[in-house]
Amino acid sequence: MLCYSPRVTIVGAGRVGSTLAQRIAEKNLADVVLLDIIPGMPQGLALDLMEARGIETHNRKIIGTNDYADTFGSEIVVIAAGIKRKPGMSRDDLLKTNALIVVEATLSAIARSPDAIFIIITNPVEVITYLARQATSLPRDRIMGMAGVLDSARFQTFIALELGVSPVDVNAMVLGSHGDLMLPLPRYCTVNGIPITELMDAATIERLVERTRHGGAEIVELMQTGSAFFAPASATCLMVEAILRNQSRLLPIAAYLQGEYGLDNICLGVPCRLGCGGIDTVLELNLTDGEMAALHTSAESVRESIERYLG
Ligand code: NAD
Repeated sequence: MLCYSPRVTIVGAGRVGSTLAQRIAEKNLADVVLLDIIPGMPQGLALDLMEARGIETHNRKIIGTNDYADTFGSEIVVIAAGIKRKPGMSRDDLLKTNALIVVEATLSAIARSPDAIFIIITNPVEVITYLARQATSLPRDRIMGMAGVLDSARFQTFIALELGVSPVDVNAMVLGSHGDLMLPLPRYCTVNGIPITELMDAATIERLVERTRHGGAEIVELMQTGSAFFAPASATCLMVEAILRNQSRLLPIAAYLQGEYGLDNICLGVPCRLGCGGIDTVLELNLTDGEMAALHTSAESVRESIERYLG
């Protein structure tokens, strides 16, 4: 009998990367290779996670390394390496350093796993995903950014808290870029099929939309010395699971657009069908004029950052 375990490499064993490694292993999805630039750190984390296996009752291998040679043959490579946002720092401030780190990491990983699907987490995520795609020439189905699943989960949480219902019953959709110009779409949000517009007044919905737009900053302000990592790891794990289990999930993903929504040559959060080949389809919603204008404003800010970076 052929015994085979899928492998997921995570580059960047910081708070998001290491929490993601834990989620993937404990959900029994794949073996995990955790790579970081700091000597000994991913090895220590991997050993710690391995020592929990008997208690958590799974048998997944977690390998810690500083060497890309150990990442060979991965089905999925997640890039969570970089520096993170500090209070008062915009996502664009991070761009220069993080772009160099991610492009180099993507090229190093692809040399060992030429068929892998890449998920970029590092911020500013749409810009970095665009630059990594450009550097690798990967087809758009195999390179994508994670943000919309997280932003939608935040919107879902705030709706559930406001209504006193389980978040499991709330469906929420957030498109656009991961930042102040993201586009939460109340028209597409329901509680077990009931549109939220029937359950809350417009002012309440607008308050929740604004809280979602500043969801990352709210956590940075509270933590002072860090940024969110539990929910970002959960959101990425959902995407990893959709790919490994070929679930054809319809999720908001930062995808390379080729004319959809009237946008070309840019990465932006749009609804995509995600399965074992990566992004299978980009779904074009019938947006209102106002929603379409907001999506284009969001795209414009991403484009400006790309142009600033490319100089
Ligand atoms: P962190 O500082 O805890 O971890 C980053 C890790 O990357 C560190 O361990 C660092 O040593 C490592 N690293 C730096 N350069 C590297 C290199 N060249 N090769 C390998 N590893 C390298 O940060 P974090 O909280 O885990 O966040 C990671 C990134 O994810 C940040 O850019 C953050 O802004 C971003 N993020 C994005 C989202 C999203 O929705 N897209 C959500 C949360 C965090």
